[in-house]
Amino acid sequence: MEDCLFCRIARKEIPAKIVYEDEEILAFKDINPVAPVHLLFIPKKHISTFFDLEPGDELVIGRLHRAVVQVAREMGLEEQGFRLVANCQEGGGQLIFHLHYHLIAGRPLQWPPG
Ligand code: 5GP
Ligand code: ZN
Repeated sequence: MEDCLFCRIARKEIPAKIVYEDEEILAFKDINPVAPVHLLFIPKKHISTFFDLEPGDELVIGRLHRAVVQVAREMGLEEQGFRLVANCQEGGGQLIFHLHYHLIAGRPLQWPPG
């Protein structure tokens, strides 16, 4: 999508601190971190929300989860763990309408989230 912020980051038109990249997935540091570790994982393909997932997208979503685990392991988070959050639609707190997961770690995390 032309104007989508995360598509533009995926196309390297807007800089981001990239921590992981493969053909289908990109992970980068959130510009406004809410914890010592706050990364965003996106499919490079534009998918606005979970409601826009199409047949075949399960592969990219599965790969995204594998990328999360790889990065978390490389960052030494296997023991302390992390939180993986995906906000869906405005009511779910979604501001950027390109599907993404927040990986948050490095401080005690409360439950339930706000
Ligand atoms: P959402 O509320 O849609 O789940 O989360 C969007 C996230 O994108 C927010 O945590 C926000 O800080 C982050 N964000 C917004 N604009 C940018 C940007 O230009 N670069 C990066 N790296 N993160 C951004
Ligand atoms: Zn997009």
